[in-house]
Amino acid sequence: MEEKVYSGIGASPGIVIGRAYLLDRRKVVVAGQRIEEVSVKDEVARFRKAVEISKSQLEDLKKRFARGLGKSHRYIIDTLVMLLEDKMLIDKTVKLIRESQVNAEGALKDTITSIGQKFDKIEDEYLRERKHDIEQIGERILRNLVGHRQESLTDIEGEAIVIAHDLAPTDTLQMRKDKILAFATDAGSRTSHTAILARSLGIPAAVGLDTITDVVKTGDVVIVDGIHGVVIVDPGEETFLEYLKRQRRFKYFEQELEKLRTLPAETLDGHQVYLHGNIELPEEVASVAEHGGTGIGLYRTEFLFMNRPTLPSEDEHYHAYRHVAAQAAPHEVVIRTLDVGGDKIALSQTIDGEANPALGLRAIRFTLQKPDIFKAQLRGLLRAAAQGNIKILFPMISSLPELRETKKILAEVKEELRSDGVTFQEHVEIGIMIEVPAAAMIADLLAAEVDFFSVGTNDLIQYTLAIDRQNEHVAYMYEPLDPAVLRLLQMVSKAAQQGNITLSMCGEMAGDPLYAAILLGLGFQHLSMNVASIPWVKRVIRSVRMDDANELVSLVMQESTAEGARKTAESFMQKRFPDLVAEL
Ligand code: PEP
Ligand code: MG
Repeated sequence: MEEKVYSGIGASPGIVIGRAYLLDRRKVVVAGQRIEEVSVKDEVARFRKAVEISKSQLEDLKKRFARGLGKSHRYIIDTLVMLLEDKMLIDKTVKLIRESQVNAEGALKDTITSIGQKFDKIEDEYLRERKHDIEQIGERILRNLVGHRQESLTDIEGEAIVIAHDLAPTDTLQMRKDKILAFATDAGSRTSHTAILARSLGIPAAVGLDTITDVVKTGDVVIVDGIHGVVIVDPGEETFLEYLKRQRRFKYFEQELEKLRTLPAETLDGHQVYLHGNIELPEEVASVAEHGGTGIGLYRTEFLFMNRPTLPSEDEHYHAYRHVAAQAAPHEVVIRTLDVGGDKIALSQTIDGEANPALGLRAIRFTLQKPDIFKAQLRGLLRAAAQGNIKILFPMISSLPELRETKKILAEVKEELRSDGVTFQEHVEIGIMIEVPAAAMIADLLAAEVDFFSVGTNDLIQYTLAIDRQNEHVAYMYEPLDPAVLRLLQMVSKAAQQGNITLSMCGEMAGDPLYAAILLGLGFQHLSMNVASIPWVKRVIRSVRMDDANELVSLVMQESTAEGARKTAESFMQKRFPDLVAEL
């Protein structure tokens, strides 16, 4: 067998050799057929049986989930189970089998299509969103009708490397590090949600491999190099041994980095940098300190809203934030308000089918239009801030009026809490994400109104270079060292300095050791990243002087292309950190 090499994007570092598990996510193809009148009864029974099987599969999944990732994630399954009793779906299908004398597959498909069309016309966005749930449950029943099961990550026996077209947020929630050694997907980019989560879970991953699911079969031996985004199928002996060696070297290097854990992130000439962790789940707080970071520079709160039929209450917000702050104490926790839409989760209230969701009703734009959702979160935040070191971060601000509107709502919430006699923190620091080019360009105006900036390069690069961060076809153009991006970063840094506010970065750029010295020279004193990156960045910080970092910035800024800037940065790193570069 000849080895095959596929190149994509390194999404989460590490080298893994193991057996593949192909997660089948193709849609079942079924044909509607007419049936004889005498068969109608059997056909209805067959349909009902498939519904029952679907129900017991979901109950089973829920039980397995219960041992895994916390009860809030079980809501999604409850929603689906409820749909299995839905009259519109079940009774209508049965009626169609009886009246039109079609087989169960055909009747179910027609029912789902007609429900879908009705949903498209519905004004209520919550109801409209239920369409996806119905489609999902319909697909499950169809699979059970034809005896083709929808696989889930919890089905995997033993350890495996997961190969999939793409992974949904529900898949990533089921990822257990002890079972899933690595994953490789056709879709995705370095900053797609799945990649970010893989890094935070410490699961090596390569994404954007285009057609990897066409060539890998379950049981194949594969190598995933999550550093370079390479997947090798059926490796030959030489390759196998070479990667075994690389794997050992990588592990050794990680152990060396571990020794830095308790040391400060300080340059050789004593300039202090703060390395924080990005988290998505409250359970991740402990891993920040374990990796040598201090506090949370970005808590993405989207997960609180996910996989459940209802919205989180003010109290749920309060408890989650208080818990995170207590665990991170005495260090700070920067909590970002809900950022839905775009490539992020869809919420029942978000708009489905926007032509350009990344440019649509996303993040702060969404919460400003849904003051109830926003206020519940802000109330929880302000109450929790009375008991912990919490700062509030607003995503995707793109203009001054938008920021002022946001602050107005925050002031209203404070006023409401005050008149309710509820204890809360009056003086909580607020910051904004700088992730839209417009915000970077008016950073001086914005700086006058907030306590800190946190630069979100994942979106800033997407919007500046007009590259969809989800799209693997343009991922090669996603370049943090593009002169346009660097100029914006410099503008933001100057504005923060002149406005005397804290400058932080929480996009993925902050976690790449190649950029650490440049960011230092650009004036970023706070860097927040995936926990796995903390030791790597710390290693660079602890080995440079500010003079060198400043010089590197002036060299990089003189380059007129991303390629030139990258070469300059790489040769600096090569000279300074040959061992580290060898691992990247
Ligand atoms: C960013 O855009 O850089 C960022 C940190 O936010 P998110 O990745 O959650 O969009
Ligand atoms: Mg963002």
